[in-house]
Amino acid sequence: MLSTMQDVPLTVTRILRHGTTVHGTSQVITWTGEGAPQRRTFHELGERTAQLAHALRDDLGVTDDERVATFMWNNAEHVEAYFAVPCMGAILHTLNLRLPADQLTWIVEHAADRVIIVNGSLIGLIAPLLPQLTSVEHIVVSGAGDRSLLAGGHAQVHEYEELLAGKPTAYDWPELDERAAAAMCYTSGTTGDPKGVVYSHRSIYLHSMQVNMTQSMGLTDADTSLVVVPQFHVNAWGLPHATLMTGVNMLMPDRFLQPAPLAEMIESVRPTHAAAVPTIWQGLLAELTAKPRDVSSLGQVTIGGSACPPSLMAAFDELGMRVCHAWGMTETSPLGTVSRPPAHAIGTDAEFEYRLTQGRFPAGVEGRLVGPGGEHLPWDGESAGELEVRGPWIAASYYGGAGGETIKPDDKFSEDGWLKTGDVGVITSDGFLTLTDRAKDVIKSGGEWISSVDLENALMSHPDVAEAAVVAVPDEKWGERPLATVVLREDATADYAALRDFLAGSVAKWQLPERWAVITAVPKTSVGKFDKKVLRRQYAAGELD
Ligand code: ADP
Repeated sequence: MLSTMQDVPLTVTRILRHGTTVHGTSQVITWTGEGAPQRRTFHELGERTAQLAHALRDDLGVTDDERVATFMWNNAEHVEAYFAVPCMGAILHTLNLRLPADQLTWIVEHAADRVIIVNGSLIGLIAPLLPQLTSVEHIVVSGAGDRSLLAGGHAQVHEYEELLAGKPTAYDWPELDERAAAAMCYTSGTTGDPKGVVYSHRSIYLHSMQVNMTQSMGLTDADTSLVVVPQFHVNAWGLPHATLMTGVNMLMPDRFLQPAPLAEMIESVRPTHAAAVPTIWQGLLAELTAKPRDVSSLGQVTIGGSACPPSLMAAFDELGMRVCHAWGMTETSPLGTVSRPPAHAIGTDAEFEYRLTQGRFPAGVEGRLVGPGGEHLPWDGESAGELEVRGPWIAASYYGGAGGETIKPDDKFSEDGWLKTGDVGVITSDGFLTLTDRAKDVIKSGGEWISSVDLENALMSHPDVAEAAVVAVPDEKWGERPLATVVLREDATADYAALRDFLAGSVAKWQLPERWAVITAVPKTSVGKFDKKVLRRQYAAGELD
């Protein structure tokens, strides 16, 4: 028997209608680098979103199912694209502006993007690629920047504001199938070609509700969220959609992602929440240590994308910025786990330990650990295996290109359809996940596994160490051994022997690295994570001895 309930499709359009009416006075605040930030209400956002949809359809001829790409920072115009494109029935494709040229070219061609909306400040990055971007017919430029670099190419160049000017401020949004594609995002292609994940209206809707739950970010219209995590990286962790559902004000940093302007915007706009990867927060912490600011508004900081070092969590606690650790992937929309300690641990010594874990699966995400022989492992806090997940906002396959079949590589999906995350960890009987490493980063030494993350966290708790990355390097006797690369703080006095002694206090003796290198900065990926393949390459080339 079927239910008697209404079958209303869960679409991004419903989020847009709700946010721009019920929460019409909430704001998107964009940092401009000088003077007052730009402020637009959600009501204005709704009007401009309608204008953009008219422009895309009437002036540029965008029809159903076409991909409209963005090459943009986090700002109000990017939020407008986030809603106009999916709600008109097309597909928003956010391009990661930090990817190398060959990957970007590959991705634009693979997605067959016909329109790209570009921030003026990024013209210099995209212009040299244009001759190879043969699918692109229209470039829409928003904000200041040198347009002359785009002249003479095959694509027509338009001004964002000119396209919107005079267009109707309402749009007859079509009723869409909730399973239809709404947005797409490519993984950063650490191995092989990048892979396209295509989110549905339904997956975005359900994921946004989850982001808003009290056990997740739990924000309300009394909050302002500083969205540092880029809109080109897994939909800025779902924040632009989730904030429209609950009326949370968005503070968008645009291109001002360096520690000093971040500190300045926190002090002057006074956000209550912020979200970004650990490297951003390490930078902010150093800035605040050198030049203290009033960051007292920032009560909650969501950290994910890489493991949050305990030293960072403790330092933020001292500053009154309470860290909430979360885990996810491009394939998981990204919210996969969130670490809110259980009620019984709050106020006890165990609370901090719980907060350091990657957290619990929310309702809607199921997780399991799989051993090397394919066996399912118990949740006993000790049995380590690869994490597999499934749920309504988890990818079931990758985009196969225009007219192509979807792609389901065996190393990414199990036979029964779960996503293989490539992350290795343990789960306790009360459901808390601790990731010990990425499968490809684990150091396999003489039949035992060493967690590179454990060594890094221990090293980064040393006062002389600003950053530390540990990678596996070949070893004749043991197969692999850890190489510790460290970035020392100014005035540091510690040498390798001192760091090794320090590590001996928290890890087993056989895990202590024999190989060390001091570097000036840990190489980072396009989304600000430690890029260990660069370190492995540098070691192989003899550059780290
Ligand atoms: P990329 O593979 O380019 O880094 P993603 O952003 O999709 O792209 O990264 C997902 C991966 O990031 C996860 O599989 C995991 O290895 C890592 N990750 C994300 N959040 C955490 C976290 N809180 N702790 C440890 N690792 C994390």
